[in-house]
Amino acid sequence: AFISRTSSGYEEEEDDQQRTSYLNELKGASAKSAYTKDFQQQIDHAKVIAVKDNFVTERLPTTCASSILNGFTGNAESTVCRILQEVGMDIAGKTNMDEFGMGSHSQNSAYGPVQNGFGKNAQSPGGSSGGSAMAVADGIVSIAIGSDTGGSVRLPAAYTGTVGFKPSYGRISRNGLVPYANSLDTVGIIARNTNDVMALFQILDKYDPADPTSLRPESRTRIHEARRKRQVDFGHHYLESEDVKFSFVGPRSKGETPAETSMPRDRYKRYTSGYLRRIGVPNEYNIAEMHPVVRQAWLRTLSMLANKGHTIVPISLPNTKLALAAYYVLAPAEASSNLAKYDGVRYGTPRDLSTADNENGLLYANYRGEHFGEEVKRRILLGTFTLSAAAKDNYFVQAQKVRRLVQQDFNNVFAFGHPLLPHTRHQNSSSDRTVDLIIVPTAPTPPPKIQDLEGQSPVQSYINDVFTVPASLAGLPAISVPAAADEDIPATPDRHVGMQVIGQYGDDLNVLNFTRYDI
Ligand code: GLN
Repeated sequence: AFISRTSSGYEEEEDDQQRTSYLNELKGASAKSAYTKDFQQQIDHAKVIAVKDNFVTERLPTTCASSILNGFTGNAESTVCRILQEVGMDIAGKTNMDEFGMGSHSQNSAYGPVQNGFGKNAQSPGGSSGGSAMAVADGIVSIAIGSDTGGSVRLPAAYTGTVGFKPSYGRISRNGLVPYANSLDTVGIIARNTNDVMALFQILDKYDPADPTSLRPESRTRIHEARRKRQVDFGHHYLESEDVKFSFVGPRSKGETPAETSMPRDRYKRYTSGYLRRIGVPNEYNIAEMHPVVRQAWLRTLSMLANKGHTIVPISLPNTKLALAAYYVLAPAEASSNLAKYDGVRYGTPRDLSTADNENGLLYANYRGEHFGEEVKRRILLGTFTLSAAAKDNYFVQAQKVRRLVQQDFNNVFAFGHPLLPHTRHQNSSSDRTVDLIIVPTAPTPPPKIQDLEGQSPVQSYINDVFTVPASLAGLPAISVPAAADEDIPATPDRHVGMQVIGQYGDDLNVLNFTRYDI
């Protein structure tokens, strides 16, 4: 799965004090020493990390798995990679991916495909962060960074039996992440368990002035206030980052410290009514094409949650069926604009500017024709078409409208109003029709065999993303976790099923905490 690795590795950052002060800075004044110690243990445990090859690294090449960036090494560190090293992690290497993030099976790479297993049984690792997911699934690293534009962290997690988290748009800096579709791109985390994901998320969840779309401190405060207010609304004690980090906390009595409040899971139901969620199950996701194993895992997960005391609520997200089409208009449109800069002059593989072809303008086209892969070219053509004067109103503008409708669908069902769009909070939060979280499968099928992908049309591959793109269009936090297989279905790799938990914008910690303790 690896494209390149460090031979020397990074110099050990031994300054504990700096580390601690960095963590304290992240934590603000409320940093607790017990928490910091746990935090440090988490970091030590997950010290070696793999990074998808679309994050710029100073000491390793960054190619986005494209021949057009062959030999390119950036001259600055992406914010994510800088933070990772500041907290003492070692970047083991860059992972293979679909070229520029375009794909769902990590087969579209100039360096060859990623596969899970060998020979005729080899399976799709999912895409586009398939290399990151395989590095975790194979135990090369315990945690990896990916990017998720329309599902690229969640789908590989579902296909490889790992955990993949896409945060709310804007929470982790995109500075130094080579853009695919800027309005959708997020930095995602893949690990073997939700603990590790959560620990790393909290390190990376930070305002970055270098990213114009990074959530500003004022907005972070607003999200925080909204979450606090919701606790009052509900009369619940929701799991909040300031109070609960790495130990489970039930209803707390005065004077109890967080360390004393963890409790065994089997006591959960009796002691945690305040934490019970209302779980939304959207009708529109129950599509005919869903594989029986996936449907079974979904039902099993829901009944397990109901047994724990959570309330399962049927909901409707009526614009879901339009989301996929809208995504495949918007993402290529943004991509076509982003990719225009690969002209063979500024980055990567250089072109010879002295030929006659260059003078008559052919060289730019020939060069791009030679170095971009088939899928990337298809997206560029799609994107330039849907943005053209003749087609724009029918495609790009319509897709933007659909995107709004998809966002509204979510705002209509979440009890927690969108914290940055207060006017969308038209529901009474105690209404019995609203929900705290939504649970749907990550993909309609278990991982396909790679040999079965051959001869698939691009549209067949796009359909794979049907359950992941709605949360992307709405910028919502979403995590994929391995779902319990039924006893009569062996949990073999070809039976990997991922369940997706989706939360309201800014409700990342609720999504993570819920997944951590309840699924
Ligand atoms: N499969 C989707 C696409 O090709 C999503 C990719 C991603 O999230 N980077 O666009």
